[in-house]
Amino acid sequence: MTPKIARFLTEQKPATPCLVVDLDCVRGQYRALHDALPSSRIHYAVKANPAPAILKELNNLGSFFDIASPGEIDICMKAGIPAQKLSFGHTVKTARSIAYAHQKGLTLYAFDCIEELRKLAEHAPGCEVFCRLGVLNTGAQWPLSRKFGTTPESAFTLLQQARDLGLKPAGLSFHVGSQQTSTEAYGDAIAQAAGIYHRLRQQGITLDFINMGGGFPTYYNSPIPSIDQFGKAIATAMTTHFPEGAPRILLEPGRYMVGSAGVVHTEVVLSSKRGGGDNTPRWVYLDIGRFGGLAETEGESIRYTFQTPHDENTASRSPCILAGPTCDSMDVLYEKNLVPLPEELKTGDRVNILATGAYVSTYCSTGFNGFPPLDEHYI
Ligand SMILES: *Cc1c(COP(=O)(O)O)cnc(C)c1O
Repeated sequence: MTPKIARFLTEQKPATPCLVVDLDCVRGQYRALHDALPSSRIHYAVKANPAPAILKELNNLGSFFDIASPGEIDICMKAGIPAQKLSFGHTVKTARSIAYAHQKGLTLYAFDCIEELRKLAEHAPGCEVFCRLGVLNTGAQWPLSRKFGTTPESAFTLLQQARDLGLKPAGLSFHVGSQQTSTEAYGDAIAQAAGIYHRLRQQGITLDFINMGGGFPTYYNSPIPSIDQFGKAIATAMTTHFPEGAPRILLEPGRYMVGSAGVVHTEVVLSSKRGGGDNTPRWVYLDIGRFGGLAETEGESIRYTFQTPHDENTASRSPCILAGPTCDSMDVLYEKNLVPLPEELKTGDRVNILATGAYVSTYCSTGFNGFPPLDEHYI
């Protein structure tokens, strides 16, 4: 938690649950990534947190943006971002949304199969396209493979077909999985992309860029490599695989850019063993849960850090099951990985959930059980 957020919580005492994001921290993350790979072009993945305050801040710093729907195009344009700075990175788009993007002036689109390529040729004629490769997501705590991407062989064919359809084959992309904790994942994917790049060159096609997606991790509760280590691994792999000069690097960070900048401020609704004996864990119910925005606790994949008013007294912690406030029994955050919380923790205590700036505000339901959407503060 940054001092600015701590001060805001003490002075403003905002109603819970709410998300508080420190924009200085977002700025710092952008600069650190930019410094780690100075020649890259950063396309912020808008879905991680589309708050206008964040979009404007990043736009001022020179960021580009990756969007996935007409709704995200509108949010960006309303924030003053020109269409030329938007890429349509989703490989699965309706014809209507392609036509909408084309009409708004977007020129860069992702695809991973011939059917999508034909849609692009019809509804965004002449556009620049990049083909997404399916790469291993080993090391990622929130994988994004399976559903997207194609094989190197098919990417090689598809990018030539793109040219034949009157489109501009501009690049290759991959996503090594979100919350990627291994720097090697990028190197392996770059090697694959380079193989296709060189083969396409022999066919008279020179791609402009390799788009490495996102994946850069946020610190939750176990150590992660620094952004400089990721930068070094990527730069080294690029030099190795493109000895005669590399194409441009595009990055689509989402989580990295905003995750560490946010804190969810929440209240304990109930803390009880509910008739269980001494050896049963306590149930702690917070006023935010799986449906209030903490969707990434699905499968207990992302494991947040909790800060309570009793943290100095570490001797008296006991493992708790953590649950949300709704009437749905799926609304449990952690029950396999119990969370050690102070014995003194009681109803009405405020609890902070750290590093929750990404993938929380928009995963929130619009009113399940009558609980309103999460309040958001950008400071
Ligand atoms: C979600 C997404 C990202 C952002 O991923 P992070 O792991 O949050 O950095 C980037 N690119 C695409 C295509 C995505 O779908």
